[in-house]
Amino acid sequence: DQSLAELDPEIAAVLEGELGRQRDTLEMIASENFVPRAVLQAQGSVLTNKYAEGYPGKRYYGGCEQVDIAENLAIDRAKALFGAEYANVQPHSGATANAAVLHALATPGDTILGLSLAHGGHLTHGMKINFSGKLYNVAAYGVDPDTYRVDMDAVRDAALEHKPKVIIAGWSAYPRQLDFAAFREIADEVGAYLWTDMAHFAGLVAAGLHPSPVPHSDVVSTTVHKTLGGPRSGLILARDAEGFGKKLNSAVFPGQQGGPLMHVIAAKAVALKVAAGEEFAARQAATVQGAQILAERLTAADVAGAGVSVLTGGTDVHLTLVDLRDSALDGQQAEDLLHSAGITVNRNAVPFDPRPPRVTSGLRIGTPALASRGFGETEFREVADIIGTVLAAGTGADIEAAKARVQKLTDAFPLYPGLAQ
Ligand code: PLP
Repeated sequence: DQSLAELDPEIAAVLEGELGRQRDTLEMIASENFVPRAVLQAQGSVLTNKYAEGYPGKRYYGGCEQVDIAENLAIDRAKALFGAEYANVQPHSGATANAAVLHALATPGDTILGLSLAHGGHLTHGMKINFSGKLYNVAAYGVDPDTYRVDMDAVRDAALEHKPKVIIAGWSAYPRQLDFAAFREIADEVGAYLWTDMAHFAGLVAAGLHPSPVPHSDVVSTTVHKTLGGPRSGLILARDAEGFGKKLNSAVFPGQQGGPLMHVIAAKAVALKVAAGEEFAARQAATVQGAQILAERLTAADVAGAGVSVLTGGTDVHLTLVDLRDSALDGQQAEDLLHSAGITVNRNAVPFDPRPPRVTSGLRIGTPALASRGFGETEFREVADIIGTVLAAGTGADIEAAKARVQKLTDAFPLYPGLAQ
């Protein structure tokens, strides 16, 4: 019964190194977050030992009395948090949740209509070599070339042209709110189902800072680990249990998965409890405010003068999209430059990007992890100024000075104090 350090010092060193990396850098990948310690505890627990194929009360294995309690708590909390009659908490990830949703709503060969990957959509919304692009006939809508926003008239035109079975609302890189009522109207007009993938903004919805897609959509899917701040995993919701409940359950198990990850489901239950609290809502408000401060700083004269701008001129959510098409830096260079200063972001194609996807002309910068770390307005102003100063100076930036400013912030907000991996 050896400890990890005794049994496998190489992996123990990775855990220690990663904890150090998370502590000593500014994590600004929009899809990441820091989970509460209680979530780490539930996820790293003996529940990983349990097989529980099936659903609570209807398992194909014995000994499920404890894990049934955990799964029922997660289901009830998910339903209460999002005002849904149906919840399935078993998807291992956002991608498997989405595969199950399409399995329940459509038949291979049916047409699906979602936001194009190049304009901020997700792989599972119809990318060519993803299961969604291989099994379904994919049509896409894009953002408007002048406003960079989703134009609902264009969505309607695409829906009338392609007559999809499923319309997908949701995104991985888009800085504004979607009009779910308008999506519903279009879906009704063309006889399509409306599926919303709120993976990125679910935490904002939970906090009441973003309109909820639940009342307007037939099915809603999400990841649990982005703004929602839980373990890496997925979740499916539906407004009413009658409609798709049975189909969705069978699409997840046995359609998509075998045994559910009960340790992750318990951790999901914990995260959903946290997400119903006031502290969580305050953190989501700090998240959005931080992204807005960032957008404001990155549209200032010195940054604009260096050819850097922000898509749509601002943000309503937890991220801002930096447009480098007129800058001397490409996405890769900007990502590397910020990385060398201790700030982690990801390069991201902007709509109509002239550069290849491996290089790109954009950055996606998110604030959820730093808000979870305790950053508020003052700290986000400092972060925004560090990033703005570096991007404006480009390859001539004073990286040592930026690094020192980053270290001041990370020192002032210790992450997981006392935790040793
Ligand atoms: N849906 C959206 C909108 C996403 O942005 C992502 C992840 O980036 C996913 C689904 C997939 O989640 P996962 O990485 O857990 O499979």
